[in-house]
Amino acid sequence: MKAIAVFPSDRKVTTIDLAEPGITRPEHVKLRVLDVGICGTDKEICSFAYGAPPDGSDYLVIGHEALGEVVEIGAAVAHLMPGDLVVPTVRRPCSHARCRSCRAGHQDFCETGDFTERGIKGAHGYLTEFVVEDAQYLCPAPHHLREIAVLTEPLTIAEKAGAQLYSLMQRRPPWIDPAASERAMGLGHRALVLGAGPVGLLGAMALRIVGFETFIYSREQEPDPRLAVAKEIGATYLSSQSVPTDHLEAQIGPIDIVYEAMGHSLVALEVLKALGPNGIYVLTGVPGLRTLIESDPAALMRDIVLKNQVVLGTVNAGPQDFVAAIADLESFYRRWPSAVRSLIGERTPLGHAAESILERPAGIKRVIAI
Ligand SMILES: [Zn+2]
Ligand SMILES: [Zn+2]
Repeated sequence: MKAIAVFPSDRKVTTIDLAEPGITRPEHVKLRVLDVGICGTDKEICSFAYGAPPDGSDYLVIGHEALGEVVEIGAAVAHLMPGDLVVPTVRRPCSHARCRSCRAGHQDFCETGDFTERGIKGAHGYLTEFVVEDAQYLCPAPHHLREIAVLTEPLTIAEKAGAQLYSLMQRRPPWIDPAASERAMGLGHRALVLGAGPVGLLGAMALRIVGFETFIYSREQEPDPRLAVAKEIGATYLSSQSVPTDHLEAQIGPIDIVYEAMGHSLVALEVLKALGPNGIYVLTGVPGLRTLIESDPAALMRDIVLKNQVVLGTVNAGPQDFVAAIADLESFYRRWPSAVRSLIGERTPLGHAAESILERPAGIKRVIAI
């Protein structure tokens, strides 16, 4: 079977032939991979800036955002059947007894850094024809989400952040309303999303669906499909080419939540200055390390303290976030079908995957069809 592999020492990304994997343990499930989404992490791995092959291998099969169809199950697998659609999770626990998070099944909060991630760090990914995985790492998806379920993994970032926002918002003024459900947590509050890539737009949908008045700030200008998505979901789009960061507060009013999905450290820091009192700033983008920024950290710290602000970093997601993402994708699709569909442009066939990963996709997100 074909797979797309990165050889970091040869600085090469290429299609390779691998033996088809088989079930070797009772809890195993064999999947035919249907779709794999490509994101900034894959681009970094394919530019040799990030990622690591499994121990003893000189290559890494990439791809971590996947949708697969079950083709075979091990004897101990009770909740899946051949024909079912599943989204595999990405991170696997470290082996240290002292890691309370991994031992409790929360490897997205791993404390040692010795976790593996399929397609990213120490474990082969899903950009291939068949994979075998433990049933516990597979999240079922309904068949009517076949066309869009590959968006589950990038949405889990917002789901993990959203769950933490909800628990924070229940306990912090001015939001304490014991009657407010998680589905209505945004009513009366303003959120600003930084970045109109797939993670930003899916995050904006997640904020809109729970009632936030949502603004999206990014560099694109009309005409651009990202602006059409913003419009359809009822968000207000602000282009960084016409609105400087120090005008954001005047344009929007006090900002309660910032959901950063840009990975641009200068913009992220500038927008932190515009965060409102008692505001929560969620950082999801991973900026490059070489940017030097002139800033006054004391002024930033003063603001965070004197305005009761929270700055929250978040990475990866847990199994409950995958379940929540699939439920939310269903809601998004019902409410904004064309916006959700337009996130995925033309699908790229596996045969053209290796050379296309670093190219800018025709649509908003590149998806490889296997
Ligand atoms: Zn990704
Ligand atoms: Zn751990």
